[in-house]
Amino acid sequence: MFVRESSTSSKRKGRDSVYPLDLSSRSAENPYMEDSAVRALFEFFEDKGLAALKDEDRLEQWYDDWIVYQRRHGLYAAVLSPKQYSSRGSAFDLLRYSRFLESFAYCSPAHGYSLQVSFLGIFSVLMGTNTKLKQEVVTALETGELMAFGVSEKDHGSDLLANEFTIAESGAGTFMANGTKYYIGNTDAASMISILGRKISHKDSRDGGSGGHANRAPFMLIALRPKQTAAFRSLGKIRTLGVRAANVGSFELKNHLIPAGDVIAEGRAAWDAVFGTITLGKFFLGFGSIGICEHALQEAVTHLRKRRLYGKAVIEMRHIHANVLRACLRLTAMKLYAYRALDYVHTASPSDRRYLLFCAVQKAKVSTEGLKVMALLQECIGAKGFESGGYFEMALRDIQLIPSLEGSMHINLGLATQFIPRYFDRPDAALEQPLSLMGGETTSRENSYLMEARAGSPHAVGFRSFSDAYRPLASLNGTVPFLRQIEVFREIATKSENVDRSDLQFEMALGQCFATIVYGQLIAENAVRLELPEAITSSIFAVLVEDLSTLALRLAAIPGVNNSVRDSISRMIEVPNVNAEEWDFVSRHFAL
Ligand SMILES: Cc1cc2nc3c(=O)[nH]c(=O)nc-3n(C[C@H](O)[C@H](O)[C@H](O)COP(=O)(O)OP(=O)(O)OC[C@H]3O[C@@H](n4cnc5c(N)ncnc54)[C@H](O)[C@@H]3O)c2cc1C
Repeated sequence: MFVRESSTSSKRKGRDSVYPLDLSSRSAENPYMEDSAVRALFEFFEDKGLAALKDEDRLEQWYDDWIVYQRRHGLYAAVLSPKQYSSRGSAFDLLRYSRFLESFAYCSPAHGYSLQVSFLGIFSVLMGTNTKLKQEVVTALETGELMAFGVSEKDHGSDLLANEFTIAESGAGTFMANGTKYYIGNTDAASMISILGRKISHKDSRDGGSGGHANRAPFMLIALRPKQTAAFRSLGKIRTLGVRAANVGSFELKNHLIPAGDVIAEGRAAWDAVFGTITLGKFFLGFGSIGICEHALQEAVTHLRKRRLYGKAVIEMRHIHANVLRACLRLTAMKLYAYRALDYVHTASPSDRRYLLFCAVQKAKVSTEGLKVMALLQECIGAKGFESGGYFEMALRDIQLIPSLEGSMHINLGLATQFIPRYFDRPDAALEQPLSLMGGETTSRENSYLMEARAGSPHAVGFRSFSDAYRPLASLNGTVPFLRQIEVFREIATKSENVDRSDLQFEMALGQCFATIVYGQLIAENAVRLELPEAITSSIFAVLVEDLSTLALRLAAIPGVNNSVRDSISRMIEVPNVNAEEWDFVSRHFAL
C-alpha cells in the first residue's frame, strides 16, 4: 500500500517522481514500489523475462499466465474496486491507479490494455442506474474476471449516433438484442461486456430494425455475460500493429433475450454513463504513454552510453545529448501535466468540472507528446530501436495506438475548443486550487462524484484566471514569450468567432494551440507546487514556445483565414528564449 503519512521524505520522493523514473528500481527513492500491487506487477514481469514477453508479442499470443497471476494476487480488484461494493476494503484510489497504469505500461502495454478495458467495462456499469449489476461486476472483479466495453461498430467508428446495434422491446420488460461490435478489447476473455445499443420498439424490430430509428432512438446500455450466452458469437481477433498479445476482437449477438435486470441504463443515463466512462478512460491512457516513454528512455540511454563511435560514447555527441535532454524535458512535462490534471479529477464535483477540459487535453496532448518523445529517442538510437529483442521497438508500435483510443485526438481537440470562451472570460476566483497529490499536500482517495457525473455543457464550466498559474514564474526566460503568445491567441480566438466553424481544419488547428496553452497552465501549476528548479521549468516552456510557434504557422496556412486573423497569428510566432546557463543546468540535472 501507499505510504499515507505526509512526512518530509515522502513529500520529497513524491516530488522527485515527476522526472522520468526507472520504475523497476527497488531503491527506497521509488515511491511506486511502496504499493504491494506494483511490486507484484514487477515480480511477474521480471520472472517472465523480456525474451518471453517479446515472443508472445511476435506470436500475438494471449497472456493466460498473467490473467491467472493477477487473479491469484487480486490485482485488478485491488486497484479498481470502489469502496461501496468492495468486500475487501478496497477503494478506487486515483493516485494509486494512475501509478499502477504507468508501471503496467512500463512493463507491457499489451497486458495493461486488459486492465484499461476492464476499467471501461466496470465503470460504465458503476455509472449506470442498476445497483444489482454494480455489485455483480465488482464481485466478478474480485474473483479475477475481466470486463469489456462494446461501443464501437465497424462501419461507424467515432460516429456513435449511427450505431446500428438494436435492443428491441419484446414484452414483459424484456428486450431482444441484435448486432455486431468491432474493435472490442477482451472480447474473448471478458465475463461481462457492457454494450451500447439503440432501444427500438417491437414494431421497428419487426420491420427489420433499421426503419428510421437511427439517430433518433434512445440509447440503451446492457450487460452481457458472453460465457453464459449461446447467442454470443466471437468473430475472432483483430490483428493490430500494437498491443499484439492483447485480445481486440469483434462479436455478434443474434436474438439474445435481455431481462430488465441486465439493463445498465437507458436514455440520457446511458449516454452519461458512456460519456463519463470515456472521459476517464481517455484520461488514464495518458499514464500509459508516460510509462512507455520512461522504459524506452531508459533502454535508449543505456544503449547510447555503451555504444562507442569514433572513440567515444554516442551519448557524448552534442546533438544526441541535446535530443535526449529534449526527450527528458518533454517527458517531465507530460508527467507534470498528467499528475496535475489528476489533482483536478481528484477534487471534481458538481460545482467544479474543470477536469472535463483537462481530461480532453490529457488525451489530445499527453498521448501525442509521447509520440514526440519516442521519435526523438528513435532518432538517437538508430537501428537498435528496430531490433525485435528489445522493449523499444514494441514501445514504438504500442504508443501509436494511444491517440486513437477512447475518442481520437481530433475529437478531443474539438471538445477542448468548446471551453475557450469560459477559459478566458469571466474567471471565477472562488474556485479552489486543488491540493497536489504528487507533492504530498493531500491524501489520495476515491472520488465518488466521478461515478455520478452527468454530461453537461462545456459553457457552464468555470475556471480561475489562467494567469494565476504563472504569477510566480512570470519572469522566466521560457514563460515570458509563452505568456505573450497566450495573449495573442485570445485575440485570434475572439476574431475568429466569425470564421466558418464547420471547417474542422481551422477548428483542429485552433484546438491544437489552445490545448498547448492549457497544457502549459497545469505544467506551471505543478512546477510551482513541486518547487521545480527554475531552469527546468524555463526550459520546458522554451519547448512549448517552439511548439506554439509551429502550431501558429499551421493555423496561418489554412486557406480561408482572413488577413486580419493572419496578422494576429504572425504575432504569435516567438523565438524560444533558450539560455545557455539554464541548458547546462538541465544537462547536469538529468545526468545522462
Ligand atoms: C487497439 C484498439 C482497441 C480498441 N478497443 C475498443 C474497445 O475496447 N471498445 C470500443 O468500443 N472501441 C474500441 N476501439 C475503437 C476505437 O475507440 C475507435 O478507434 C474509435 O471508435 C474510432 O474509430 P476509428 O479509429 O475507426 O476512426 P473513425 O471514426 O473512422 O475516424 C476517422 C478519422 O476521422 C476523425 N474524426 C472522427 N470524428 C471526428 C470528429 N467528431 N471531429 C474531428 N475528427 C473526427 C478521427 O480522428 C479519424 O482521424 C479500439 C480501437 C483500437 C485500434
